[in-house]
Amino acid sequence: MSEGIVWLVGAGPGDPELISVKGLRLIQSADAIVYDRLVDKRLLRHARAAAELTDVGKIPGRRINRQEDINSLLVALGQAGKRVVRLKGGDPFVFGRGGEEAEALADAGVRFEVVPGITSAIAAPAYAGIPLTHRRLASSFSVITGSEDPTKPNTAVNWEALAKSGGTLVVLMGQSNLSAIARALLSYGRAPQTPVALVQWGTEPYQRTLVGTLADIADKAAAAGIGAPAVTIVGDVARLRDTIGWFDDKPLFGKRALVTRTRTQASALSDMLTQRGAQAVELPTIEIQPLDEYDQLDRALMSARRYDWLVFSSANAVDVVFGRLDALGLDSRALHGLKIAAIGTATARRLRTHGISADFIPASFVGEAAVEELGAYDMGGKRVLLPQAEIARDAIRRGLAALGASVDAIAVYRTVTPQDTTDRLMSVLADGIDIATFTSSSTVSNLMALLDGNTDALKDATIACIGPITAARAVELGLKVDIMASEYTIAGLVEAVESHFQQEVAK
Ligand code: SAH
Repeated sequence: MSEGIVWLVGAGPGDPELISVKGLRLIQSADAIVYDRLVDKRLLRHARAAAELTDVGKIPGRRINRQEDINSLLVALGQAGKRVVRLKGGDPFVFGRGGEEAEALADAGVRFEVVPGITSAIAAPAYAGIPLTHRRLASSFSVITGSEDPTKPNTAVNWEALAKSGGTLVVLMGQSNLSAIARALLSYGRAPQTPVALVQWGTEPYQRTLVGTLADIADKAAAAGIGAPAVTIVGDVARLRDTIGWFDDKPLFGKRALVTRTRTQASALSDMLTQRGAQAVELPTIEIQPLDEYDQLDRALMSARRYDWLVFSSANAVDVVFGRLDALGLDSRALHGLKIAAIGTATARRLRTHGISADFIPASFVGEAAVEELGAYDMGGKRVLLPQAEIARDAIRRGLAALGASVDAIAVYRTVTPQDTTDRLMSVLADGIDIATFTSSSTVSNLMALLDGNTDALKDATIACIGPITAARAVELGLKVDIMASEYTIAGLVEAVESHFQQEVAK
C-alpha cells in the first residue's frame, strides 16, 4: 500500500479560475476530495471519475463535533493510503480551520502539505475595485473575524487597536454583527463618514457590492438584504471603487444566461458568456448518444473509395466516423481520394484535429445555402456519403440530390433529452433567467417540449438564437426572438448578445 497524503488546498474565493495551478493539478489526480460548502462546485468537474467526493459542508444531523468528524475523516483517508485533497474556500489557513486539520494530521502521523489559496479577504475587494492598500490612503490592512459580538466582554479581537491603526479593515464572517462592529469602531474614534463596502459572493458572477459609511452601512445592508458570505471593507480605499470598479461593469454582468447545448458542447459558450460577466446556467436539453449498431456506416467506410465526396454536417458526425474507422482498424487513409466538405467552422475544426483540412467549407452554415454553394462543384452523378443525426433536417440530402448527386445519408448518432432535465429546468426557472440562448433548432424544440409548449416561463427572458433556422423554430413555437447572430457561430451569438445589452445600457 502506498503512503497516504493529504493536501490542504485553497480553492480560491469563488471564481473557479482563481485556484492555483498546483491546486488544480492535485484535484485532477486525487483519489478523494473532501470539500466545503463555499467551494465552487465547478472545480469538482476536474476530479477523476473514480475519485471519492465528500461534501463536509452539510453532514445532515451531525452538527456537533463536526470539525472533529472532518479531522477524523481526513486522518482515516490518509491512513488508508489515499491521495486526498482537502479543498477549502479561499485560503486554508485564513479562518478556514485549516490549522486545526493540519494539527490533527500531524498528531496522527499522516503526511500532509499545504497549497495556499487566494483568500476572499483580498479577492472580494479586488473584484469590487477596492485596493486594500494605497500610497495615499492606507499603508496596512488587517483581516478580522466578525463572528464575535465586539460589545461582548473579553472579546478576542482588539477593536480599539484596530480602529486606531488607521489601516484598512477587512472583516470576514461579520454579517450578523455588522451594526455592533460599526458602533464599536465609531466609539473608538473612527469617523462616521469613513467609507465602508460590503461585497457578497465576491468573484462570482452574482457578486453584489454595497457602499456606505460607518454611520449607515448596517441599515443599508439590512435594507438591501445582503447576507453571508460577505466581506466588509472599512477605510478610505472603499471610495476608489467609483473610479476603478471593473468586474460589475462587464456588459453581461449580473445576467443569468441559460445554455441549452449538449453537455460536451456547452462549455465553450458558457465560458464566453462568463468572460463577459454573465452567469451561465447549463441545462443540456440534448445529449448525443451512439447508435446500437453501425453496420451501414462500417460498410460505407470499408469501401469509402466508392464515394466522391464525404460531407460532414456536424462535429458529432466527425467524431463518430473517426471512432468507427479506429474500431475497424482503419485510419484517415481510408478516406484517401475523397473530397471532404465540412459545414460549419466547428465541424472543420474538429476535422483538423484528425489531421484533415476540408476541401470545402461553405461560407453559410445553413444547410440549404451551404448545399447551394456546393453547386459550384459539378455534383451531377457524384456519389456522396453523408453521415448525420438519426433525426436530421433533410435539407442537405435533398439539396445534394437536386444537384444530381447520389447520396447515402447514414444515421450515425442520436440526440436524446437527458433524464433529470425536467427537474433541473424547474429549479433553474425558479431562480429566474435573463437570457435564453439557442444554438440549434433542436435545442428550441427540446426546451419547449420540456415546458409542454408553455412559453410563460420565458416571457421575461431575452431570447437569443444562433441563426435564422433556429430563430424560425423559436417563432413557430411561440417565442419572441430578441437577438439573432449575424455570424452563425457560438462566437457570433455571444457577440450579438453582448451588443444587444450594450445598446440597452446606452438607451
Ligand atoms: N478561508 C476562507 C474564509 C473562510 S471563513 C478565505 O480565505 O476566504 C468564511 C467567510 O469568508 C465568509 O463568512 C465570508 O466572510 C468570507 N467569504 C468567503 N467566500 C467569500 C466570497 N466569495 N465573497 C465574500 N466573502 C466570502
